[in-house]
Amino acid sequence: MRKQIAAANWKMNLTKPQAEQLLNMLLDQAPELTGSQEVVLAVPFPYLMWVMERISGRSGYRVAAQNCHHKVAGAFTGEVSAPMLASLGVSDCVLGHSERREYQQESDSLLAEKVDRCLEVGLRPIFCCGEPLSIREAEGQNDHVGGQIRAGLFHLTADAITKVVIAYEPIWAIGTGRTASADQAQEMHAHIRSVLADQYGDVVAASISILYGGSVKASNATELFGLPDVDGGLVGGASLQADEFVQIIRSLA
Ligand code: PEP
Repeated sequence: MRKQIAAANWKMNLTKPQAEQLLNMLLDQAPELTGSQEVVLAVPFPYLMWVMERISGRSGYRVAAQNCHHKVAGAFTGEVSAPMLASLGVSDCVLGHSERREYQQESDSLLAEKVDRCLEVGLRPIFCCGEPLSIREAEGQNDHVGGQIRAGLFHLTADAITKVVIAYEPIWAIGTGRTASADQAQEMHAHIRSVLADQYGDVVAASISILYGGSVKASNATELFGLPDVDGGLVGGASLQADEFVQIIRSLA
């Protein structure tokens, strides 16, 4: 059975005292998870070790980096490699968030390299995809997202791609308060699964968790996570409020 995942993306928010306050509140209220549920906290690099220590012993709770470099090591001042993250015990790495695709010009081919660097050291990539508003308005979203998945992931073997989590995040819904409707989310998630099935077969496609991201909050999480092809969410703004994120965790199927 594929995992149902509530992933928090703190982005570049929270000083250490603020992060401590949030994490304390979150861990005070956070529910125990079933064997098929996970919570992933994607936190800024300086907080990785500390958050890992704080969640240790909590079954199903994991920590993610928000990015890594596409090379193993070398003269890349200011960068962080996948082997460094793995050597700390980090389990997951968000790749290809639309903010990085836009502000750091991350291309599909660069992301394919980052996916490889993560898998080589046992880090689970959370591979983000999603279309801008102009493409949605021109009804090109299926081709756009299918293209991102093919370019970023289809060099992988069937075994390797089962180690990836996909996050569909329509750019027009990120941080805007505008959520994809249940129909829009289900339609795209089913499309992504069919793209995966065409390449890898139904069994592999059915085993991959596909998260929805874009203004997920406590008030819409139950509906979204109840959709047949939505396996949880990647949550930005609402993950910065402990009570909201706890409700989102409780909404996991
Ligand atoms: C995100 O950052 O991945 C995201 C979905 O943000 P928000 O929930 O704030 O829309």
